[in-house]
Amino acid sequence: MSKSRILLPLLGAAVLVACATSPLGRSQLKLVSDSEVSQMGINSFTELKQKTPATKDTKEAAYVQCVAGAITRVIPQMKWDVSIPTSWEVVTFESKDVNAFALPGGKIGVYTGLLDVATTPDQLAAVIGHEVTHVLAGHSAERVSSDAVGSLGTAVASAFTGIDASTLSVATKTLFLLPYSRAHESEADLLGMDLMAKAGFDPSQSIVLWQNMSAKAGGQAPPQLMSTHPSNSTRIHDLSARLPQDAAVYQQARAAGLRPSCSR
Ligand SMILES: [Zn+2]
Repeated sequence: MSKSRILLPLLGAAVLVACATSPLGRSQLKLVSDSEVSQMGINSFTELKQKTPATKDTKEAAYVQCVAGAITRVIPQMKWDVSIPTSWEVVTFESKDVNAFALPGGKIGVYTGLLDVATTPDQLAAVIGHEVTHVLAGHSAERVSSDAVGSLGTAVASAFTGIDASTLSVATKTLFLLPYSRAHESEADLLGMDLMAKAGFDPSQSIVLWQNMSAKAGGQAPPQLMSTHPSNSTRIHDLSARLPQDAAVYQQARAAGLRPSCSR
């Protein structure tokens, strides 16, 4: 990949340069190791927890934990691009934002505002499946890498050559605030639907979810989750094309006893 040839002499041996391939066959530029990205994710989650309160509604938190747990339990059944975290920390944040995120290092955050749009366990599973796919398909590592390409010699580059406190906010911004590309979004939609089906959630509800999200966006600024996502018609088309395959996966999961029972 030409970018890595330019980068290598500039950043030297301190940075691991690798061209990888995503689970759906897209080539990826990766300048960071799994363990470096995981550490960034863990640090960023700590920072985010200091800035946003967790919900005090224990029933709501338990509901989100139930859906997220059902998803994370089946993650090892799929092939992923990064090493799979051994455990996942799930926090429900008290915020009107219609948003959720996952970070490398096994971190999942859901905002209470999302629960007004993802109104059923299957729809919440669609969002969580989508978000953890961003991490597991190596998108976080790619995002850190591509940001580095545009910021050679800056604090961002130093953030992954040696994590230091003064760059922590930059790392968090890179992992948490930078939008994913449309290619990432499409990949997370499809693999996320595979994942929810494997966990025993109805994959057709991912289509309902994105329609809800689009309706919510009507006329005003779209929810942050939608900001860089493919056009709604493209997304619904692509998900519908994959639905027969995932409906079969869903039926198999149900037959095998995976019937998550999560209620608010
Ligand atoms: Zn996304």
